[in-house]
Amino acid sequence: MKYVDLLLPLPLQRLFTYSVPPSMESLVRRGCRVLVQFGKKKYYAGIVMEAHDRKPDYETKPLCEIVDTEPIVTEGQLSFWQWIADYYICSVGEVMKAAMPQGLKLESESKLMFNAHFGEEEDGGTDAAMERLTPKQRQVLEFIREQKVCTISEVANHMEGVNPVGHIRSLLECDAIFISEELRDSYKPKMVKAYRLGPGLRTEEDVMEAIDALEARAPRQLDALMSFLQAAGGMGRATDGVRVRQDATDDLKGRGPQLSELSRKGILTQETIEVSRLKMKADEGSELNALSEIQAQAKSEIDEQMATGRPTLLYGVTGSGKTEIYIHLIAETLAKGRNVLYLLPEIALTTQITERLRRHFGADMAVYHSKFADAERVEVWKKLLSNHPPRLILGVRSSILLPMRDLGLIIVDEEHESSFKQYEPAPRYNARDMAVVLSGMNKESGCRVLLGSATPSVESWTNVENGRYGMVRLTKRHAGLELPEIEVINMTEARKHKATQSMFSLRLKEIIAGALSRKEQVILFQNRRGFSPVVECKQCAMVPKCVNCDVSLTYHKGSGQLVCHYCGYTTPMPTTCPACGNPSLAPMGFGTEKIEEACHELFPEARVARMDLDTARSRKSFEEIIAAFGNREHDILIGTQMVAKGLDFEGVSTVGIMNADALTNTPDFRADERAYQLMAQVSGRAGRKGSQGHVYIQASRPAHPVIECVRKGDYEGNMA
Ligand code: ADP
Ligand code: ZN
Repeated sequence: MKYVDLLLPLPLQRLFTYSVPPSMESLVRRGCRVLVQFGKKKYYAGIVMEAHDRKPDYETKPLCEIVDTEPIVTEGQLSFWQWIADYYICSVGEVMKAAMPQGLKLESESKLMFNAHFGEEEDGGTDAAMERLTPKQRQVLEFIREQKVCTISEVANHMEGVNPVGHIRSLLECDAIFISEELRDSYKPKMVKAYRLGPGLRTEEDVMEAIDALEARAPRQLDALMSFLQAAGGMGRATDGVRVRQDATDDLKGRGPQLSELSRKGILTQETIEVSRLKMKADEGSELNALSEIQAQAKSEIDEQMATGRPTLLYGVTGSGKTEIYIHLIAETLAKGRNVLYLLPEIALTTQITERLRRHFGADMAVYHSKFADAERVEVWKKLLSNHPPRLILGVRSSILLPMRDLGLIIVDEEHESSFKQYEPAPRYNARDMAVVLSGMNKESGCRVLLGSATPSVESWTNVENGRYGMVRLTKRHAGLELPEIEVINMTEARKHKATQSMFSLRLKEIIAGALSRKEQVILFQNRRGFSPVVECKQCAMVPKCVNCDVSLTYHKGSGQLVCHYCGYTTPMPTTCPACGNPSLAPMGFGTEKIEEACHELFPEARVARMDLDTARSRKSFEEIIAAFGNREHDILIGTQMVAKGLDFEGVSTVGIMNADALTNTPDFRADERAYQLMAQVSGRAGRKGSQGHVYIQASRPAHPVIECVRKGDYEGNMA
């Protein structure tokens, strides 16, 4: 075996052949990573696809290093990646790039560095050379100098809205900066120290002796030893050799120096152990909820449908118990010794579902999420390849690309969600469709796929009508709970009769006041963040637009900025019109930020929270908002589509859709489909426990057919 063909994480359709130095020949294996140089400066970890003796007709470079001794990917994964590359017209390398966490890719990132000798040999030295740069170039250069080392994207962040690439290129050309290629394996396992009694301490007498000795001269070490003994569960267990992690108790955590000293004296033995970041535990003795008769019926229909090997669509209204049925299916699949992949559209849903699944499957379960730290994702990946892989993976889009084995069931929850589709970069895959493909590839071994939604996508509905998918319905909410009652408020009429205040009809305002007085919670939905989506000059009708995208800029009052919601371009809100110079720029329309302001005025007593990309950028802030609202720390939650997604709050009696016209008017061939889904989903948040909820839709054109379908809860009418 003198050569290997490698898969590199590049947008190139071919494999690359390298030669294998004799010392490595016995070690190269298909599926393992090797490190190679590519071009002059770049290094990549490539995956060995084949080792062979066929000399190519060009000069080959040697491998630099072998990274793995065991394959880092499975055979099934490689065929699946190939299928994706063929179907979505990209390279397998690009699929590899999308699939692997950064820490496994060992990719050399371009790092920019300031050249400390910049301009020294020219007239006037560095200062004069700096003077010759344009102000923007200088700004970029100053930033790089300050940072010492930084990436292009860091420069881009710093330069807010200015595309830095051109400036970087000119700085490179005049040698003000250079690129350093830095190679790093960014995965570091989490290590903790652990202790047991030293080899000289076998009996309780030995321990007593040690205690006596410490008592006189090292009282703090004695305290540490006592803490250790307590954490070990007593002297007897300690002399049996029980190992105690330092992070086992808060008491031990603070005694690092004393524990080390005790180890030095031989009273304790110190070890460093690798611990999992994925610690989860099932609740003991937690039993599955028994399915209701209707749910049990639906489940047996699902079993029947899936037994035919066809993908199955579970079309069940919000709150009908789809998740309960998933939980039963998961339990059965795991009991058969097969594994399960549970796909969710995004971040928004994971918290509540994770908790529901953890209760039953905790120890067998792992969560895979792009918002998790890279190290955690690496750990899930490696765990999946280990001898004790997690049996249930709960994850977003990219988890379909993980090294999973023995899949018995793939569940795609909220299958209609657009976030299953990746737009940029390649592969531009839809994880729901790939779930269907993956189960098809594993059909022989009995891998089934179940799609679930209260508002199925047009594609899945069509597949059911064509007989390609089976379908099971759940038309009633669990426990006889009614679906919410929906009222449409005619805003054209309301405005004609001066029955509005800000963006609220007086009707909706009264409803909210009533709900608040009964201590019920309210969700207000508006699919626009920011204060107002358009700013217009009252004098000359000029509308500030994005310099990159030519779309109108959204006014964010809190930050005093105009922001492009496509590319992120930001500029301060001008005080006068850039075109005519008059102080007559006025915000038009409204977003979540403006609703929040109006709520403070109209309902001064109410505690108001807002959830949109601006307030919930990170997973943590998102979870905090949800938790606080769930704990009834807020009375009103204002949000974009983030609030529409499968969240389950007990206290919400009332949902207001502030401006339905904005949903039905978007120039998109999916506008009607999306409008229906969003309104139906957000309505589903009303009245989930105890009593019927109420939904109010404000619309200037209330007769719009989609709004009519939402009002009647007529999903199929909307599909027709
Ligand atoms: P969906 O996923 O269709 O929106 P869920 O599974 O979340 O529905 O069910 C809605 C609510 O009803 C949840 O709070 C759930 O715990 C409860 N529920 C549904 N089915 C059952 C059942 N069989 N036993 C107990 N509680 C149930
Ligand atoms: Zn833009």
